[in-house]
Amino acid sequence: MAVSGTAEVNARVVTALKRCGVDLAAFAGDGLTARTPVTGAALFDLRAHGPEEVDEVVDAAHRAFLAWRTVPAPVRGLLVKRFGALLTEHRADLAALVTAEAGKIESESLGEVQEMVDVCDFAVGLSRQLYGRTMPSERPEHRLMETWHPLGVVGVISAFNFPVAVWAWNAAVALVCGDTVVWKPSELTPLTALACAALLDRAAAECGAPPRLNQVLLGGADTGARLVDSPLVPLVSATGSTRMGREVGPQVAARFGRSLLELGGNNAVVVAPSADLDLVVNAAVFAAAGTAGQRCTSLRRVIAHEDVVDEVADRLAAAFRTLPVGDPFQDGTLVGPLVRGAAHDAMRAAAERAVARGGVVLAGGGRELVDAAPEAYYIRPAVLRMPEQSAVVLEETFAPLLYVLSYQDFAEAVALQNGVPHGLSAGVFTRDQAEAERFLAADGADCGIVNVNIGTSGAEIGGAFGGEKETGGGRESGSDAWRAYMRRATNTVNFSGRVALAQGVDFSR
Ligand code: NAD
Repeated sequence: MAVSGTAEVNARVVTALKRCGVDLAAFAGDGLTARTPVTGAALFDLRAHGPEEVDEVVDAAHRAFLAWRTVPAPVRGLLVKRFGALLTEHRADLAALVTAEAGKIESESLGEVQEMVDVCDFAVGLSRQLYGRTMPSERPEHRLMETWHPLGVVGVISAFNFPVAVWAWNAAVALVCGDTVVWKPSELTPLTALACAALLDRAAAECGAPPRLNQVLLGGADTGARLVDSPLVPLVSATGSTRMGREVGPQVAARFGRSLLELGGNNAVVVAPSADLDLVVNAAVFAAAGTAGQRCTSLRRVIAHEDVVDEVADRLAAAFRTLPVGDPFQDGTLVGPLVRGAAHDAMRAAAERAVARGGVVLAGGGRELVDAAPEAYYIRPAVLRMPEQSAVVLEETFAPLLYVLSYQDFAEAVALQNGVPHGLSAGVFTRDQAEAERFLAADGADCGIVNVNIGTSGAEIGGAFGGEKETGGGRESGSDAWRAYMRRATNTVNFSGRVALAQGVDFSR
């Protein structure tokens, strides 16, 4: 099978960037190389932002905030509405950039852009629903209520694997909340970020919004760390590895900032004996091998009842053997490349450790298309049968590596699911309603996302997204996640003409 050449990928990227309004020459320089995992080759050399520039960008974002916070929220929503329309218009351009930089297949790249459009729709509605509560005051002729105000500059740090959607979850909500955004995208996906930012700038100019509501900082961890340290950034929303969160969380806490951490996952599905195994296999193949296993919600563990585990493992292995692995730009491909060689090294090392602990490789794990794309990492997704949940199974390996484990009773299955450091996403496949309810109950799965008869990945934007334990505890996107982007004030208004103290305190003189 052939793979697109670097010149072809380059041409697609240049066209998409131009159509989105990016003048690439303005970003040329040193410090950051944009690459494509499709061929593994370099595309462009970009200029990374130095520390002083980070400070200048944050200062400008703060000044923009001072103006933006007084614009009525429904008017702020009009900007997000226009931005959503531009995203829809440029869906194919943005998807091409996501495929070129992150290696996602076209359908998944289009889905990621759709997620941006969806969250814009959500945020537009939200702009008229930033509700505060009114509570009965215990004092006569007093009113007690809460008001939600804009917070300030939101620092968004994003990972390579959702190069645009994660930023949009943050930016769309932050903008209607009256905040401004400074975005440090992954160093692996700078071009998609420039395209999104150009479209947002266009929407802002058309709507007469203040300039510099959203700015991009190009660079790696150092650039991100400078943003994290800035006292003018009251909220840092950081998506990436647990390793990154361990650095960012304490740094933000040290200056009493707020952090919203969306970190790694080690997600599992429990397959009960009553499960519809066709459903299990179809859902698990997408969840484990989709995005080449590079989603935070990717399925890493199948915990199947001993009566069905052999059949589940065999069917998964058979499916993995025939999955079309290849050029993500080509129709029919379902598994694109890993983002870089280090991901393949990590996958190989994990598989070796698993085998040393009694694991058996049932399918996959090998590199493909080496002749067609020697610098790229096309890997056949792997299934391993494990005798127990050994140390390597407890780790997140960010690659298409699926462990199959067995259980005897349901409590054991729940304990295995919960027995990892992360707490992002879990699912149960069962036709037994009581079992499903037990999985969802307080002593069931301990994750932020818990599903029934659905795999672990592919969340909708309407719900709050995030997870517990080493996943970081943050919640983004739908439901009431917007509250993290605002400052709550509790207001008490006295219209009695007398001083009345709460809790019946008497201080009369
Ligand atoms: P990564 O941790 O290597 O990088 C993520 C981002 O953090 C990048 O922009 C990077 O430059 C920045 N960064 C790294 N160290 C930093 C520091 N000390 N200070 C400031 N910024 C820093 O992650 P990755 O390889 O891009 O993405 C894969 C990881 O992200 C996986 O662990 C995956 O599970 C996780 N992820 C989580 C979610 C979620 O919502 N929970 C979503 C997507 C990805």
